Amino acid sequence: MFNNDDILAALGQVMGPDGKTPLAATGALSGVNIRDGKIFLSISVTPDEAPHCEPMRQAAENALKALPGVKGAVVVLTSERAAGQAAPQAAPAAPKRGNGHGAPHAPAQGSGVPGVGKIIAVASGKGGVGKSTTAANLAIGLAHLGLKVGLLDADLFGPSQPRLFGLSGRPDMAADGHKLMPMEKFGVKVMSIGFLVPDDAAIVWRGPMVMSALTQLLNDVAWGELDVLVVDMPPGTGDTQLTMAQNVGLAGAVIVSTPQDLALIDARRGIAMFNQVHVPILGLFENMSYFLCPHCGERTEIFAHGGARAEAKTMGVPFLGEAPLDLMIRETSDAGLPVLAKDPKAPQAQPYLAMAQQIKETLNHAPAKKAPKFAVE
Ligand code: ADP
Repeated sequence: MFNNDDILAALGQVMGPDGKTPLAATGALSGVNIRDGKIFLSISVTPDEAPHCEPMRQAAENALKALPGVKGAVVVLTSERAAGQAAPQAAPAAPKRGNGHGAPHAPAQGSGVPGVGKIIAVASGKGGVGKSTTAANLAIGLAHLGLKVGLLDADLFGPSQPRLFGLSGRPDMAADGHKLMPMEKFGVKVMSIGFLVPDDAAIVWRGPMVMSALTQLLNDVAWGELDVLVVDMPPGTGDTQLTMAQNVGLAGAVIVSTPQDLALIDARRGIAMFNQVHVPILGLFENMSYFLCPHCGERTEIFAHGGARAEAKTMGVPFLGEAPLDLMIRETSDAGLPVLAKDPKAPQAQPYLAMAQQIKETLNHAPAKKAPKFAVE
């Protein structure tokens, strides 16, 4: 069996970010975890170095996989957040791959995620509106309707799906030793960066790293045959999100918003972002639409309820329904048992189920779309 010294020796041939100092001597190895013959390694790089580091990451992964006795290896690039550093959304733009008109340079030929039928994004203009809760319940709802469903937590800045699905630990390696097995719960195959890096790691993902990590999560996971892969996007509409939207072969996007005017301005930006890269909007979902009192069941319109419905109409996109601001939704989400998994008959589960039904029907009529081939530049 191999140990840390073997790992360091294997990495001896891999040069660090400067191209001449052996990786192991650079101090960039920020974490290694060995479990069941599998190695998970994180390499800390600076934002300046990040754009050039994908070949190094790949070389490190190959070197580890070649070690005798190793069943698999996953190497990720991370960057520690310095105190007071800007929020992740303010990270430098990911490399633009478009030609300025929304169409990617790379031709879309046979490079979709193998076995995955359609990929849909769940996005929001800002954080905290319930995007991840909606993505989880939507995925469970689609599975409930008989589809083979995966959920990719692409919210690298704050992965929530491990908590929502009550999943922890590291994913297993597939039998071939090359791909990661998604975790599986409530009929949904789940993969999250949260399974691969420690919970408390303050990580800033720079643009190129985001694409590198996302590429790995999409392509290096043994998804098997899926009808639909739901992608929980990072909140916001910055360059990172735009690049992701552009580079993943999305069949459509769901925008989650709360009903307030301000949140709707963000939702509008989200819609504009997907329009820019020609991704169809599957619809707008209003979360925390009204307050349902857990004691008396009385419904209180805290915000001007119905804003998203009106907005959807104005923007000419489908309205996917509304979920109340509700204690059960919050408690079930935070307890790792989303409301639709806990009780598909609960009134609180109905909006999510109805949305899943509507999306299933829309997808049935949408042509399959292959992901364009992309690489980190
Ligand atoms: P986002 O992904 O937009 O940041 P989350 O899905 O993580 O949002 O939700 C943020 C918080 O709000 C979580 O604690 C979640 O349980 C809670 N939440 C989400 N939707 C609802 C809802 N409809 N009613 C009550 N709490 C909710």
